[in-house]
Amino acid sequence: MMAPGFTGAAVDRADRVRHDPALLAAATADPRARLLILHGLDPELTQDGKLVWTELGGTTGERLFLGFDRADIPLFASAPLPGLALQGGRSPELSAMLDHFQAEDAALYAAARSLVDWHARHGFCAVCGTATAIFRAGWGRKCPACHAEHFPRVDPVVIMIAEHAGRALLGRQPSWPQGRYSALAGFLEVGESIEEAVAREVEEEAGVRVANVRYVASQPWPFPSSLMVACIAEAQGDAITMDVHELEDARWFTRDDVLLALAGDPQAPFKAPPPYAIAHTLLTAWAEG
Ligand SMILES: [Zn+2]
Repeated sequence: MMAPGFTGAAVDRADRVRHDPALLAAATADPRARLLILHGLDPELTQDGKLVWTELGGTTGERLFLGFDRADIPLFASAPLPGLALQGGRSPELSAMLDHFQAEDAALYAAARSLVDWHARHGFCAVCGTATAIFRAGWGRKCPACHAEHFPRVDPVVIMIAEHAGRALLGRQPSWPQGRYSALAGFLEVGESIEEAVAREVEEEAGVRVANVRYVASQPWPFPSSLMVACIAEAQGDAITMDVHELEDARWFTRDDVLLALAGDPQAPFKAPPPYAIAHTLLTAWAEG
């Protein structure tokens, strides 16, 4: 199975550095240290799809330590300035970049983007409202008043194919590009297992009951900080009762339909999600059985 998009960063996150000010100072002072170039939350890419960096030395401001690359070079991102609102979501420029990002760099970018975005949106203590300060080399914020510690959050999302008699249930949302169908998905709620969230979402969105949920793969999705958990489940029937607030359409597709869509065939009955989305990985895993 092809590795999901945004996975496989070639970086040692070096947790030890986050806990040792001397190690962090050494990494920061390393003349080879590099700072990721971001415009808001968008990166710059070289012609061959690699991230663009600048020398850390000479730059100012607070830094977030991303880890060491294969050559042991320390990598950093700039912490956003307090009070500066970053534009979330995917810009058209970024959407264009995602198709030709090198996999390792896309994964590193996903981590950096989620981290920077989290800092920009979590400047104040959720317990007492005081302005918080960066600690652990950028992997947390601490409140000077009540001493609460806050860490970058990850929001799990279940994304799944229900299968029935050799067909897969896919849906489409009105905002998607014309013709696209993809796996159903939804946020996992507090107090739920992955299996329970899969069953609830498929029943809510399509009125289909499922059992025997099995895990396929996961991927970080940095818009802003999801973890997509891809699963396949067995449907107990094929009657669809669609939730029109969530979906514009939901249908069953055969393996051949899905294989044609994944191949980008003009005769395919629908358009597949892009390769960097785990829905693509999931459809491939299902279609190849
Ligand atoms: Zn506080």
